[in-house]
Amino acid sequence: MAKKNPNKNYCSFCGRPDSEVNLLIAGVTGHICDMCVDQAHGIVEESVKKPSKSEPDFTLNSLPKPIEIKSFVDQYVIGQDDAKRYLSVAVYNHYKRLLQIDVEDDVEIEKSNVIMVGSTGTGKTLLARTIAKMLKVPLTIVDATVLTEAGYVGEDIESILTRLLQAADYDVPTAERGIVFIDEIDKIARKSDNPSITRDVSGEGVQQGLLKLLEGSIINVPPQGGRKHPDQKMIPVDTKNILFICGGAFDGIERRIAQRLNTRVVGYSASKDTANIDRSNLMQYITPLDLKSFGLIPEIIGRLPVLTYLNPLDKNALMRILTEPKNSITKQYIKLFEMDGIKLTFDEDVYEFIVDKALEFKLGARGLRSIVEAIMMDAMFLMPSENEKELHVTHEYAVNQFKKSNIESLRVA
Ligand code: ADP
Repeated sequence: MAKKNPNKNYCSFCGRPDSEVNLLIAGVTGHICDMCVDQAHGIVEESVKKPSKSEPDFTLNSLPKPIEIKSFVDQYVIGQDDAKRYLSVAVYNHYKRLLQIDVEDDVEIEKSNVIMVGSTGTGKTLLARTIAKMLKVPLTIVDATVLTEAGYVGEDIESILTRLLQAADYDVPTAERGIVFIDEIDKIARKSDNPSITRDVSGEGVQQGLLKLLEGSIINVPPQGGRKHPDQKMIPVDTKNILFICGGAFDGIERRIAQRLNTRVVGYSASKDTANIDRSNLMQYITPLDLKSFGLIPEIIGRLPVLTYLNPLDKNALMRILTEPKNSITKQYIKLFEMDGIKLTFDEDVYEFIVDKALEFKLGARGLRSIVEAIMMDAMFLMPSENEKELHVTHEYAVNQFKKSNIESLRVA
């Protein structure tokens, strides 16, 4: 062994001299190099891994009640009271169910998975995201459009649970208490009523696969997602206690609801019944039958017993969305400018202009951001390099900036 130079410092762990390492930290009697610190850190992390939480770490008293859950969501999501109430109750009951699992009792609380129906951009995903912020269990949001039957191009159904496992830091018992929000569930509707010769691999096939998850069974989940790989070690996950919330736009379902309402109301009481129907918001009359006629298989519908809807957003709702929520679009832009020391203000009629354009372009709440972005683009580009410390957006300024942008291309025909 080569003799150590007494004038040099060496890492007491790996023996490298200070010339071969980035950093050598001195201790009382020795030294440690940056590489050994890194390795030691890994060892510590590995050995003090959090113990698996086989029991929920909450009690009924520590849980927010449905009214509290709803008022939290109210800060971020405008309107949609029905959906908020249903979701708050679903989440609260989910907790109660989890607390009841190992308790000896004749009354077994069954799971109430939820399905939310509402046009695109009305707040379904936002609702799920907001609730996730205050949850005591992991939640994952997945998109049903990418799912296909096993063996076809796309993602396997099991990938849904991979995401939940990731949200639970790969702690299986915690994941088994989680919540999965499946967005765009309508995209896996059966493509036609006639069983055709070509297989419907992204529609009915996926629904059959999903059914297994909703019913509660032990699913082998690839921990890294992707296709099942013979070398990948599967993790068995029991879906019995996982709450599923599904959301979908179900484009055109209003027509089916209208048809159903019209055909039902024949006879003497017909005129009275039809007179009471609010034709501007047919979604509120949705029933499981409409989902079936849209192409969801009855077994799936049966596993999603709580059906709720979101209202279309009218001018008033859009106006409130623009300014009211805790992180409303305008508040976000005010913050962006504030970071450059610029005070941003808007005239009232600018809001009206933005909302009118969003309605005209049929973009719903999603369009609000694109329109504000188009109006603010020039200022966001130029002002950080200028000395001006104030920007007051007038109606005229907004109209001019809007015309300058190429946002017209967003218009939905
Ligand atoms: P969906 O999932 O129904 O298609 P999202 O929840 O993704 O729609 O909504 C898109 C965006 O529109 C959200 O990020 C939010 O900024 C805004 N938005 C939609 N609905 C609402 C609402 N009810 N309250 C507040 N913001 C909303």
